[in-house]
Amino acid sequence: MTASPNNPIEGIRLFIEQMSALGMDTLYLPSDVKAQLKSKKQRLTELERSLKNCKACKLCQKRTQVVFGAGSPTAELVFIGEGPGEDEDKQGIPFVGRAGQLLTKMIQAMNLSRDDVYICNVVKCHPPGNRNPAPDEIVACEPFLLQQLDIIRPRVIVALGKFAAQTLLQTNEAITRMRGEWRDYHGVKVMPTFHPSYLLRTPNDKRKVWEDLQQVMKELGLSK
Ligand code: SF4
Repeated sequence: MTASPNNPIEGIRLFIEQMSALGMDTLYLPSDVKAQLKSKKQRLTELERSLKNCKACKLCQKRTQVVFGAGSPTAELVFIGEGPGEDEDKQGIPFVGRAGQLLTKMIQAMNLSRDDVYICNVVKCHPPGNRNPAPDEIVACEPFLLQQLDIIRPRVIVALGKFAAQTLLQTNEAITRMRGEWRDYHGVKVMPTFHPSYLLRTPNDKRKVWEDLQQVMKELGLSK
């Protein structure tokens, strides 16, 4: 069997087999290789643990807890909102309020469950009064989002709502212009769409979000 360049585990397995055939019974790995071999779950857990007492921005002052993210560490699809709300701040899980319940239904309509995808926010701590995160808070927290995405390596990101889309894509474009069009975030395809809380207020736009999600399904080869 030929090792696929996209499958490092298979390459390592073949390498070990070859070394074993040459009579070597001990393999010494450099520390950076060991780090790469850690499972995505371990790496996400370590990152989450390192943020538990994060004080890198002023959102630490009034949060109950850091809301890191939830779902599959190997997800091909990641949903990103702007920041945790009050319910999320209490429970430590993203998208658990009314908007979260609608997001769960949207995910189920794609023939997926919350355990198949990964859900997180641009900032990990609840902005008091549900205000938008400030630019300095986004700058402070974005490295953690980038690390999350670097570990998960999704194929597609769905940016939920104007704020998440504008922040990820570094633009002031209106969400009404951006939604439904593929964009790019550090090499990952991004589909901006309306936020579930907006859909609770404007249910007539659910059809547009479904159209956007259908594009995502097509990109991921998911059946309707
Ligand atoms: S929002 Fe992000 S940077 Fe700010 S305190 Fe919370 S985890 Fe740290």
